[in-house]
Amino acid sequence: MKIIGLTGGIGSGKSTVAQLLEQQGWVLVDADRIARDIVEPGQPALTELADAFGQDILLPNGSLDRGLLASRAFASREKTDLLNSITHPRIQEETQARFEAARQGGAEFVVYDMPLLVDKGLHRDMDATIVVDVDAEERVRRLVEYRGLEETDARRRIAAQIPDDVRRAAADFVIDNNGPREALDGQVAGVVEKLHALLGSRDS
Ligand code: ADP
Repeated sequence: MKIIGLTGGIGSGKSTVAQLLEQQGWVLVDADRIARDIVEPGQPALTELADAFGQDILLPNGSLDRGLLASRAFASREKTDLLNSITHPRIQEETQARFEAARQGGAEFVVYDMPLLVDKGLHRDMDATIVVDVDAEERVRRLVEYRGLEETDARRRIAAQIPDDVRRAAADFVIDNNGPREALDGQVAGVVEKLHALLGSRDS
Protein backbone atom coordinates (compact mmCIF):
# COMPACT_ATOMS: atom_id res chain seq x y z
CA MET A 1 0.00 0.00 0.00
CA LYS A 2 1.25 3.47 -0.87
CA ILE A 3 0.48 6.53 1.24
CA ILE A 4 0.30 9.74 -0.77
CA GLY A 5 0.35 13.03 1.13
CA LEU A 6 -2.03 15.73 -0.08
CA THR A 7 -1.50 19.25 1.14
CA GLY A 8 -1.88 22.90 0.27
CA GLY A 9 -2.56 26.19 1.97
CA ILE A 10 -5.96 26.81 3.52
CA GLY A 11 -8.55 27.37 0.80
CA SER A 12 -6.39 25.84 -1.94
CA GLY A 13 -8.85 23.06 -2.74
CA LYS A 14 -7.39 20.06 -0.90
CA SER A 15 -10.79 18.73 0.08
CA THR A 16 -11.96 19.10 -3.50
CA VAL A 17 -8.93 17.18 -4.81
CA ALA A 18 -9.28 14.56 -2.04
CA GLN A 19 -12.83 13.85 -3.24
CA LEU A 20 -11.61 13.36 -6.80
CA LEU A 21 -8.92 10.96 -5.58
CA GLU A 22 -11.57 9.00 -3.66
CA GLN A 23 -13.55 8.76 -6.88
CA GLN A 24 -10.45 7.19 -8.43
CA GLY A 25 -10.67 4.44 -5.81
CA TRP A 26 -8.16 5.78 -3.29
CA VAL A 27 -8.90 5.56 0.41
CA LEU A 28 -9.04 8.95 2.16
CA VAL A 29 -7.47 9.52 5.57
CA ASP A 30 -8.44 13.07 6.58
CA ALA A 31 -6.24 14.66 9.26
CA ASP A 32 -8.76 17.40 10.15
CA ARG A 33 -11.43 14.76 10.55
CA ILE A 34 -9.24 12.70 12.89
CA ALA A 35 -8.49 15.78 15.00
CA ARG A 36 -12.25 16.26 15.41
CA ASP A 37 -13.07 12.58 15.96
CA ILE A 38 -10.66 12.09 18.87
CA VAL A 39 -12.47 14.76 20.90
CA GLU A 40 -15.97 13.38 20.31
CA PRO A 41 -18.04 12.59 23.43
CA GLY A 42 -16.93 9.26 24.89
CA GLN A 43 -13.34 9.63 23.68
CA PRO A 44 -10.66 9.59 26.40
CA ALA A 45 -8.99 12.76 25.09
CA LEU A 46 -12.17 14.75 25.75
CA THR A 47 -12.27 13.67 29.40
CA GLU A 48 -8.59 14.54 29.79
CA LEU A 49 -9.11 17.95 28.20
CA ALA A 50 -11.97 18.70 30.60
CA ASP A 51 -9.80 17.64 33.56
CA ALA A 52 -6.97 19.86 32.33
CA PHE A 53 -8.88 22.94 31.10
CA GLY A 54 -12.10 22.92 33.14
CA GLN A 55 -15.30 20.89 33.00
CA ASP A 56 -17.09 23.89 31.52
CA ILE A 57 -15.38 23.26 28.17
CA LEU A 58 -18.03 20.54 27.85
CA LEU A 59 -21.34 21.81 26.48
CA PRO A 60 -24.60 20.60 28.06
CA ASN A 61 -24.87 17.89 25.38
CA GLY A 62 -21.38 16.60 26.26
CA SER A 63 -19.63 17.90 23.16
CA LEU A 64 -16.58 20.17 23.17
CA ASP A 65 -16.88 23.95 23.29
CA ARG A 66 -14.05 24.55 20.84
CA GLY A 67 -14.03 28.32 21.26
CA LEU A 68 -13.67 28.12 25.03
CA LEU A 69 -10.97 25.45 24.82
CA ALA A 70 -9.07 27.54 22.23
CA SER A 71 -9.24 30.67 24.40
CA ARG A 72 -7.71 28.74 27.30
CA ALA A 73 -5.30 26.52 25.39
CA PHE A 74 -3.80 29.30 23.31
CA ALA A 75 -3.45 31.69 26.25
CA SER A 76 0.16 30.66 26.85
CA ARG A 77 2.86 28.44 25.43
CA GLU A 78 2.56 26.18 28.48
CA LYS A 79 -1.18 25.68 27.98
CA THR A 80 -0.71 25.02 24.28
CA ASP A 81 1.88 22.35 25.13
CA LEU A 82 -0.59 20.82 27.56
CA LEU A 83 -3.28 20.70 24.86
CA ASN A 84 -0.86 19.09 22.42
CA SER A 85 0.35 16.55 24.98
CA ILE A 86 -3.25 15.33 25.29
CA THR A 87 -4.33 15.42 21.65
CA HIS A 88 -1.19 14.62 19.64
CA PRO A 89 -0.63 11.03 20.82
CA ARG A 90 -4.32 10.24 20.16
CA ILE A 91 -4.17 11.81 16.72
CA GLN A 92 -1.04 9.85 15.83
CA GLU A 93 -2.49 6.60 17.12
CA GLU A 94 -5.76 7.11 15.23
CA THR A 95 -3.93 8.06 12.03
CA GLN A 96 -1.87 4.86 12.16
CA ALA A 97 -5.03 2.86 12.93
CA ARG A 98 -6.72 4.27 9.82
CA PHE A 99 -3.71 3.49 7.64
CA GLU A 100 -3.72 -0.04 9.06
CA ALA A 101 -7.47 -0.45 8.45
CA ALA A 102 -6.93 0.64 4.84
CA ARG A 103 -4.12 -1.89 4.50
CA GLN A 104 -6.30 -4.66 5.97
CA GLY A 105 -9.05 -3.64 3.58
CA GLY A 106 -6.69 -4.20 0.65
CA ALA A 107 -6.24 -0.55 -0.31
CA GLU A 108 -3.48 0.08 -2.78
CA PHE A 109 -3.40 3.86 -2.54
CA VAL A 110 -4.26 5.97 0.48
CA VAL A 111 -4.48 9.74 0.26
CA TYR A 112 -3.51 11.45 3.51
CA ASP A 113 -5.14 14.89 3.44
CA MET A 114 -3.05 16.92 5.87
CA PRO A 115 -2.96 20.75 5.83
CA LEU A 116 0.28 20.91 7.84
CA LEU A 117 2.07 18.03 6.07
CA VAL A 118 5.07 20.11 5.00
CA ASP A 119 4.94 22.48 8.00
CA LYS A 120 5.52 19.42 10.20
CA GLY A 121 7.97 17.69 7.86
CA LEU A 122 5.65 14.69 7.50
CA HIS A 123 6.00 14.72 3.70
CA ARG A 124 9.28 12.88 4.24
CA ASP A 125 7.30 9.84 5.48
CA MET A 126 5.08 9.75 2.39
CA ASP A 127 5.55 7.62 -0.70
CA ALA A 128 4.82 10.81 -2.65
CA THR A 129 3.45 14.27 -1.96
CA ILE A 130 0.85 16.22 -3.93
CA VAL A 131 0.58 19.97 -3.34
CA VAL A 132 -2.52 21.88 -4.44
CA ASP A 133 -1.37 25.35 -5.37
CA VAL A 134 -3.39 28.57 -5.68
CA ASP A 135 -2.24 32.19 -5.43
CA ALA A 136 -2.78 33.54 -1.93
CA GLU A 137 -5.02 36.36 -3.15
CA GLU A 138 -7.33 33.92 -4.91
CA ARG A 139 -7.45 31.76 -1.77
CA VAL A 140 -8.48 34.79 0.28
CA ARG A 141 -11.22 35.47 -2.27
CA ARG A 142 -12.53 31.87 -2.14
CA LEU A 143 -12.36 31.67 1.66
CA VAL A 144 -14.40 34.87 1.94
CA GLU A 145 -16.84 34.03 -0.85
CA TYR A 146 -17.44 30.30 -0.31
CA ARG A 147 -16.49 29.66 3.29
CA GLY A 148 -17.78 32.90 4.83
CA LEU A 149 -14.51 33.88 6.53
CA GLU A 150 -13.70 37.51 7.30
CA GLU A 151 -10.96 38.74 4.98
CA THR A 152 -8.61 39.60 7.88
CA ASP A 153 -9.16 36.14 9.36
CA ALA A 154 -8.41 34.49 6.00
CA ARG A 155 -5.17 36.51 5.67
CA ARG A 156 -4.15 35.75 9.25
CA ARG A 157 -4.64 32.02 8.70
CA ILE A 158 -2.67 32.06 5.47
CA ALA A 159 0.15 34.02 7.14
CA ALA A 160 0.33 31.44 9.95
CA GLN A 161 1.22 28.67 7.47
CA ILE A 162 4.55 28.06 5.75
CA PRO A 163 5.24 30.11 2.61
CA ASP A 164 3.81 28.67 -0.60
CA ASP A 165 7.23 28.31 -2.26
CA VAL A 166 8.50 26.15 0.62
CA ARG A 167 5.43 23.93 0.35
CA ARG A 168 5.76 23.69 -3.43
CA ALA A 169 9.42 22.70 -3.10
CA ALA A 170 8.37 19.63 -1.09
CA ALA A 171 5.99 18.42 -3.80
CA ASP A 172 6.46 15.50 -6.13
CA PHE A 173 3.38 16.72 -7.99
CA VAL A 174 1.84 20.19 -8.04
CA ILE A 175 -1.83 20.58 -8.96
CA ASP A 176 -2.58 24.10 -10.14
CA ASN A 177 -6.03 25.09 -8.89
CA ASN A 178 -5.93 28.74 -9.98
CA GLY A 179 -8.27 27.92 -12.83
CA PRO A 180 -11.88 26.73 -12.81
CA ARG A 181 -12.93 23.76 -10.70
CA GLU A 182 -13.31 21.65 -13.90
CA ALA A 183 -9.60 22.03 -14.64
CA LEU A 184 -8.87 19.78 -11.66
CA ASP A 185 -10.33 16.59 -13.14
CA GLY A 186 -7.73 16.17 -15.85
CA GLN A 187 -4.84 17.12 -13.59
CA VAL A 188 -5.91 14.70 -10.87
CA ALA A 189 -6.37 11.91 -13.41
CA GLY A 190 -2.89 12.65 -14.76
CA VAL A 191 -1.28 12.48 -11.33
CA VAL A 192 -3.11 9.24 -10.51
CA GLU A 193 -1.96 7.77 -13.80
CA LYS A 194 1.66 8.70 -13.11
CA LEU A 195 1.59 7.44 -9.52
CA HIS A 196 0.07 4.13 -10.54
CA ALA A 197 2.76 3.76 -13.17
CA LEU A 198 5.53 4.72 -10.73
CA LEU A 199 4.40 2.95 -7.59
CA GLY A 200 2.09 0.16 -8.65
CA SER A 201 -0.98 -0.47 -10.72
CA ARG A 202 -4.59 -0.97 -9.71
CA ASP A 203 -4.35 -4.63 -10.64
CA SER A 204 -1.09 -5.59 -8.97
P1 ADP B 1 -9.09 23.33 1.43
O1 ADP B 1 -9.63 21.96 1.80
O2 ADP B 1 -7.76 23.28 0.80
O3 ADP B 1 -9.14 24.34 2.55
P2 ADP B 1 -11.46 23.45 -0.25
O4 ADP B 1 -11.38 22.22 -1.08
O5 ADP B 1 -12.46 23.45 0.88
O6 ADP B 1 -10.02 23.90 0.29
O7 ADP B 1 -11.73 24.70 -1.22
C1 ADP B 1 -11.96 26.01 -0.70
C2 ADP B 1 -13.22 26.59 -1.37
O8 ADP B 1 -12.92 26.90 -2.73
C3 ADP B 1 -14.37 25.61 -1.37
O9 ADP B 1 -15.56 26.32 -1.17
C4 ADP B 1 -14.30 25.00 -2.77
O10 ADP B 1 -15.56 24.57 -3.22
C5 ADP B 1 -13.79 26.18 -3.60
N1 ADP B 1 -12.99 25.78 -4.77
C6 ADP B 1 -12.12 24.74 -4.88
N2 ADP B 1 -11.55 24.74 -6.11
C7 ADP B 1 -12.06 25.80 -6.76
C8 ADP B 1 -11.86 26.37 -8.08
N3 ADP B 1 -10.98 25.84 -8.93
N4 ADP B 1 -12.55 27.49 -8.39
C9 ADP B 1 -13.40 28.05 -7.51
N5 ADP B 1 -13.64 27.58 -6.28
C10 ADP B 1 -12.98 26.47 -5.90
